[in-house]
Amino acid sequence: MAVKEENTYEEKKSLSFVEQIVEQDLAEGKNGGRIQTRFPPEPNGYLHIGHAKAICMDFGVAEKYHGVCNLRFDDTNPSKEKNEYVENILNDIRWLGFQWGNIYYASEYFQKLWDFAVWMIERGDAYIDEQTSEQIAAQKGTPTTPGTPSPYRDRPVEENLRLFKLMNDPATPEGAMVLRAKLDMSNPNMHFRDPIIYRIIHTAHHRTGTTWNAYPMYDFAHGQSDYFEGVTHSICTLEFVPHRPLYDKLIDFLKEMNGETENIHDFRPRQIEFNRLNLTYTVMSKRKLHTLVDEHLVAGWDDPRMPTLCGMRRRGYSPESIRGFIDSIGYTKFDALNDMALLEASVREDLNKRACRVSAVINPVKLVITNYPEGQTEEMSCVNNPENEADGTHTITFSRNLWIEKEDFMEDAPKKFFRMTPGQEVRLKSAYIVKCTGCTKDAEGNIIEIQAEYDPDSKSGMDGANRKVKGTLHWLSADHCTKAEVRIYDRLFSVENPSADDRDFRELLNKDSIQVRRECYIENYAADKKPGEYLQFQRIGYFMADPDSTAEMPVYNKTVGLKDTWAKQNK
Ligand code: ATP
Ligand code: MG
Repeated sequence: MAVKEENTYEEKKSLSFVEQIVEQDLAEGKNGGRIQTRFPPEPNGYLHIGHAKAICMDFGVAEKYHGVCNLRFDDTNPSKEKNEYVENILNDIRWLGFQWGNIYYASEYFQKLWDFAVWMIERGDAYIDEQTSEQIAAQKGTPTTPGTPSPYRDRPVEENLRLFKLMNDPATPEGAMVLRAKLDMSNPNMHFRDPIIYRIIHTAHHRTGTTWNAYPMYDFAHGQSDYFEGVTHSICTLEFVPHRPLYDKLIDFLKEMNGETENIHDFRPRQIEFNRLNLTYTVMSKRKLHTLVDEHLVAGWDDPRMPTLCGMRRRGYSPESIRGFIDSIGYTKFDALNDMALLEASVREDLNKRACRVSAVINPVKLVITNYPEGQTEEMSCVNNPENEADGTHTITFSRNLWIEKEDFMEDAPKKFFRMTPGQEVRLKSAYIVKCTGCTKDAEGNIIEIQAEYDPDSKSGMDGANRKVKGTLHWLSADHCTKAEVRIYDRLFSVENPSADDRDFRELLNKDSIQVRRECYIENYAADKKPGEYLQFQRIGYFMADPDSTAEMPVYNKTVGLKDTWAKQNK
C-alpha cells in the first residue's frame, strides 16, 4: 500500500504546474471537460527558441488532454506586421512537429471588438481621452499613490460615441485621441488605472487593408479573442501576471454583454503564466533581433548564429533536439537564465542518433603513402551510423596521396601524442595502419608534406588487422574528394547575459562568432548531401550543408562540436 502511494506521488510530481491546474479544472468539470489552447504569435518577426517553449506547452497540453490547440495571429498592430512573418511562423511550427487545429487572426474580430467597445461606452465604462500619451502617463500615479483622473473622464456618452467613430476616420491624426476603459484610477494594480483600449494607426493592415484606423490594444484583444474562440486555458509568460485581473475583468464584461450568468460550468478562459526561456550568450527580444538583421550585424533571420528557429534549422539543429531541451528545462513560475551548453548537449545527444558519419578535412596537409603504388585505388567500407545499423554503409576511396588534418601531425611530439609523428604507427580510419617516415618543409619551415608507409596486412576488417595502435585518424584521398567551404560558429555574444548588461547590446557581440574556411575537403559521398540531412564529420563535429552551396563549392555549417569545448575553455 505504501509503495503504491509513493508511485502516485511520483506521477503527480512529474506533471508541470500547468498540467496540474489543467487536471484540477478537468476534475472540477470546468468548461464541460473541454481543453482548448492557442499559440498566439504576433506576426512581427520570426519565431525564436523562446517561442518554441511556448509552442511545446500550448500544443503539448492540448495533445496530452485530447484537446485542440489553434494558432492565432495577434495582428492588432499593423505598423509592424507582415505576411512574410505569417508564412515563416507556420513553417517553423510545422518543422517543430506540431499540427494546429484552426488558424485564426485577431483581425477577424475587429468588428466584434468595436461593438464591445461601443457597449462599454454606452454603459459609461469607457471614454475618449484627447490628452497626449505623455500627459496620460504622467497622471498614472505610482503603485502606492493613486493616479489623477483625466479631465475627459466624465464626458457624456453621446460625445464619446461620436468621437469613437471619429477615431476610425482616416482624417483623424494618429495620437489625437484614445479610448480608455473607465475602471479605477486608484487601484494598486496599475493596469486598472483607466487602461488605453483603442488607439489610431494609419498604416494599412496586412489583412484588413485600410478598413480600420482605430485598433484595439493587446489587453482589449487577447482575452477577448480567447473568449470568442472558446479557449479554456490561455497559457502565456510571466510578464502577463499583472494583466490577469484585467483579463478576468474584461471577460466579466463580455459575459455580461452576452447575458451569461455565472456558473461553474460556464465557459471562461483561464490565463496561466510560466517562465520565459532566456538563453546565455544570446538575446531573445524581437526588437534586438530586428536590429541585428536590419543593421546587417548578422546575415539575416536565418543566420546560423541567431536564436531563431530558422537559424537553428539552417545550422543543423534537429526539431527533436530543441524539444528535448525544452523538456529538460521544464516550466516554473520563476524567470531564469538557461545555459546554452545544455541546448548544445541536447543537440549532440539527438544528432548522435541520426547523423551520417562522413570524412572531411578542414585544415589540410598532404600525406603521401610512399609504398602504396601510384595510380592504385581501393574502396573502403564505412559504417554510416554505428548507432543505427539500418542506416547502412558507403565506401570511401583510398590512394597514395591523401589529406589529413594539420593538427594530427607533430614532428617533435610529446609522449602522449598518439597521432602522427615520425616512427609511430597510427590507423587511417576504415583503411590501413601506417607508420610515419618523415616530412618535407618549405623555405619558411612550414610542413608541406608528410610521408608514411602502410602495412598491406593491416586493412580494417582483415584477420589480425587489429594490432595495438593508439590513434585513429580521418583522411581523404586527394584525387577523390570535393573542395568545400566550412563555416564554424561561436557564441553570438561575448557576455553570458547581454540583456542584463548596461552597454549597448551591439557592443557585446562576439567579433569572432564566425570563421569561414575555404580550403577544406570532403568525401564525394557527403558532397551530395542537402540542407536538412544531418552529418557528422568524424572526429570534428556535426555539420549540415548550407543553402549557399553551389555545384562548384558546397558549403557546410558546423552545428556543434563533438564535445563541449566551451566549458573546458572557461574552467
Ligand atoms: P514582442 O516583443 O513582439 O511582444 P514576443 O516575444 O512576446 O515579442 P509574441 O509573438 O507576442 O512575441 O509571442 C507569442 C507567444 O510566445 C506569447 O505567448 C509569448 O508569451 C511566447 N513567448 C515569447 N517569448 C518567449 C520566451 N522567451 N519564452 C517563452 N515563451 C515566449
Ligand atoms: Mg508579445
